[in-house]
Amino acid sequence: MTEEPSRRIQVDLTGQTAIVTGASRGIGKAIALELGKAGAQVACVARNQEKLQATADQIQEAGGTAAVYLCDVTDSETVTQVIDTVIDTWGQLDILVNNAGITRDTLIPRMSDEDWDSVLAANLRSVFLFTRTASMPMMRKRSGRIINISSVSGLMGNPGQANYSASKAGIIGMTQTVARELASRKVTVNAICPGFIATEMTDALGPAVQEEVKKRVPARRLGQAKEVADAVLYLASQSAAYITGQVLTVDGGLTA
Ligand code: NAP
Repeated sequence: MTEEPSRRIQVDLTGQTAIVTGASRGIGKAIALELGKAGAQVACVARNQEKLQATADQIQEAGGTAAVYLCDVTDSETVTQVIDTVIDTWGQLDILVNNAGITRDTLIPRMSDEDWDSVLAANLRSVFLFTRTASMPMMRKRSGRIINISSVSGLMGNPGQANYSASKAGIIGMTQTVARELASRKVTVNAICPGFIATEMTDALGPAVQEEVKKRVPARRLGQAKEVADAVLYLASQSAAYITGQVLTVDGGLTA
């Protein structure tokens, strides 16, 4: 056995059902894989069927259980259908990870209505839609974990990302409010703020910008999607039952 697995967080989520939005690639895929390895049955949600199926196949090849749900996370009706179907299929919903997100970066004078609306819809409206529908069954069951993927951009801003940072700061406000609403029913709601993580989203920055980013990060490297997934595992676990309304930053010290 290599040294690595024993060093990683070990969480037992056997018998639990999780929904992960944006599970077709990047951070969402890593989260879905880790939840699957921890024993949860994972509903993988996104729009790209082929890539989603690849995530589900990988979970199953590792001995886990997964299903694919094609869904535009901005569409209210489809979101409700997905949650209803997951509960019909697996009888319960224990963990919701709101991870799907997009960027449409440009400086504020040049930001179009479409740049603003599309980012707010994919990143913030989606969290509202999934949380609203998931909250009722979780409250009835007197247990649940809602984990929202925000960003350091929502904490400190980032030039060119007025739309994105507004959506990510909005997630933090929503997390704190919904945490207060659901705490007495034993449902926790937390946010994770990744810094710069190596995915297609940050690949788009190009090598020169990535080198500049590394100089700004005290850890001198980009994070790995798996390192965000480990934080999700912890917040999803029984060990985190008394943690709610919090923001966990996974950024190599960028905001320290
Ligand atoms: P990514 O590689 O671009 O993946 C984004 C995911 O979101 C894809 O699976 C995509 O799936 C899904 N998605 C986007 N719009 C959707 C929609 N309308 N309906 C359904 N699914 C949709 O991004 P990532 O880097 O993994 O980022 C994941 C999350 O972490 C995002 O919320 C992002 O803002 C946040 N984050 C990332 C970083 C970073 O450095 N990478 C840093 C901070 C925060 P389809 O295209 O198949 O629909």
